[in-house]
Amino acid sequence: MIQNPTNWAGNYTYQANRLHQPEIIEQVQEIVSHSHKLKALGSRHSFNDIADSPGDLVSLEHFDQVLLDREQGTVMVGAGIRYGELCRGLHREGFALHNLASLPHISVAGACSTATHGSGDQNGNLATAVTAMELITADGELVTFSREDQPDQFQGAVVGLGGLGIVKKLTLDILPTFDMRQDLYENLPLSQLEAHFDEITSSGYSVSLFTDWRDAIFNQVWLKRQVSNGASLEVEPQLFGAIPATRRLHPIGSLSSENCTEQMGIPGPWYERLPHFRMDFTPSSGEELQSEYFIPRQHAIAALHAMDQLREHIAPILQISEVRTIAADNLWMSPCYQQACVAIHFTWIKDWPAVSKVLPLIEERLAPFRARPHWGKLFTMDPERLQALYAKLPEFQGLLRHYDPEGKFRNAFLDKYIFGQSI
Ligand SMILES: Cc1cc2nc3c(=O)[nH]c(=O)nc-3n(C[C@H](O)[C@H](O)[C@H](O)COP(=O)(O)OP(=O)(O)OC[C@H]3O[C@@H](n4cnc5c(N)ncnc54)[C@H](O)[C@@H]3O)c2cc1C
Repeated sequence: MIQNPTNWAGNYTYQANRLHQPEIIEQVQEIVSHSHKLKALGSRHSFNDIADSPGDLVSLEHFDQVLLDREQGTVMVGAGIRYGELCRGLHREGFALHNLASLPHISVAGACSTATHGSGDQNGNLATAVTAMELITADGELVTFSREDQPDQFQGAVVGLGGLGIVKKLTLDILPTFDMRQDLYENLPLSQLEAHFDEITSSGYSVSLFTDWRDAIFNQVWLKRQVSNGASLEVEPQLFGAIPATRRLHPIGSLSSENCTEQMGIPGPWYERLPHFRMDFTPSSGEELQSEYFIPRQHAIAALHAMDQLREHIAPILQISEVRTIAADNLWMSPCYQQACVAIHFTWIKDWPAVSKVLPLIEERLAPFRARPHWGKLFTMDPERLQALYAKLPEFQGLLRHYDPEGKFRNAFLDKYIFGQSI
């Protein structure tokens, strides 16, 4: 049993025997070579057993190097670095990442492994910024996957669910840095969202819509827009019936906004506006559970309508629900593989028996839209159904078998959802 053996939310206890925290690459290679079963552990923000191992866990938290290549427009980062640690320095050097998740404390390798995303019609998930990845495979060897040199295998490896090996470093595309402002609106009628979905989600660089499903209303709209030279943009007096917030808000209306990124249209760097929560406010654990489903964008309105019909089941155990949009990509195991998506997220109260009763209802209602669950959050879908949603699953299985023929990096999650076997 490892010390401090739970994930961030405290809802999952890792079953692994040992946690290694190597400091140099040779140690990682030795651990891999000598282990029968092991898996990389990131910053522990997943809500399910995806990061666990029946053998050992390896944390690369000491691998947090950053190497900027201005000419190529890329940054190479150690796999253990968290977005919040990376972004400040990148901005100082005049660069930015294209998008971020709601929380900056998540590790880059863990986020990319599960197709973690932010919002924005034109923004792919965070893994779409990866141009190359170096990992230690089952035999202890270092293997590089590059977008340019091995485009096919690369597309299979990036959202790798930890199944290919231990990622040592990643190279990410970067952009010139930019400033953003965040304006919040309150009370967007669901009917308006249904009538103007595309206009609303394209009204900013990144748009998030929050509802508690208690009424036919989206309680808050978070509109994140780019500003140039600190020049401010107009705040529309209303956004399809929603009115500008007159004070700072937490997505959960009853909570203090002190841990939220700056709002009220005040311009600031991209990394202090794209996430909803501040890096310098460290939530050590969360009194919550999360689930999220990706629906092909063309079904967004029908899917929202379907959720609206379940409000009496959802609302009593919900803290808040968030709707975001994500651009299509070519990463085999990304829920947005070759389809732009809308993601419907649920932050539940920490009551798994109650949540586990509602998830099958949600999954049944979303089944006609071929909804795919977030790899790192809670779902109850049958493995067979999940597998049928991934056209590239056979190729992904082949990739894992090739680089990990004896299943060193396989765990109960991968056995169940990728290989369709229970252990
Ligand atoms: C408060 C909170 C907010 C969140 N917000 C968002 C959000 O806005 N958008 C979103 O999409 N998701 C969000 N998530 C989910 C989260 O981004 C994913 O669960 C993500 O995978 C967590 O990354 P991690 O570093 O904690 O990885 P872990 O949970 O530790 O591991 C996840 C997977 O990554 C693999 N992995 C980690 N490091 C490596 C490595 N070095 N080499 C190989 N594999 C590796 C693990 O083996 C495992 O399969 C949120 C979660 C929380 C708790």
